Amino acid sequence: MCLHARAFRKANPEKAIEAVRRWEAKNPERVRSWARASYHRKKESCIAKVTAYQSKNAERVREWKRKYEHSEAGLFAKRVKEAKRRSAKLMGSIPDPLPSRIVKVVFDNFDNRCVWCGGAADTIDHLYPLYSKPNGHALDNLVPACRTCNSRKSRRDPQKWAEICGANLETIQEKLRNVCRQAAGSL
Ligand SMILES: [Zn+2]
Repeated sequence: MCLHARAFRKANPEKAIEAVRRWEAKNPERVRSWARASYHRKKESCIAKVTAYQSKNAERVREWKRKYEHSEAGLFAKRVKEAKRRSAKLMGSIPDPLPSRIVKVVFDNFDNRCVWCGGAADTIDHLYPLYSKPNGHALDNLVPACRTCNSRKSRRDPQKWAEICGANLETIQEKLRNVCRQAAGSL
């Protein structure tokens, strides 16, 4: 900081603050990364301060917590937590990774191609997100996909995702029905 700038700031504190605000609005990503870095540098003292405040103001903290739990954000967080719990429960009750013979059937029937983009498939995608279906690991819910499509699709509804990537969900599901018919005797 040169002397001139320091003198300017001293003489025009409001203008200086205004300039900082403008810069921050233009560079939100840098502001966030600085905040993150600063938090990690001072993590322990930050946590200690928060803990001290919470133990001093227990009643107030309880009140905020109650409010948060009934707010839109709080209810949404609760739903996400519940969905994750269900998903973990499902995963626990089903062999993971999938048996290799099932993986082979899924890949073979779609010629090792990603059902979404037609590229080379290297993962198995659950058509409907695993947690949203009682039998998510069933053969009629498994399709080959490339890593990129699988992670971009994430937990989207397959119909919405098919519209985004231009794939035909009807054709995929028709093929899945055939796969199940053929596999019925052999698995
Ligand atoms: Zn793909």
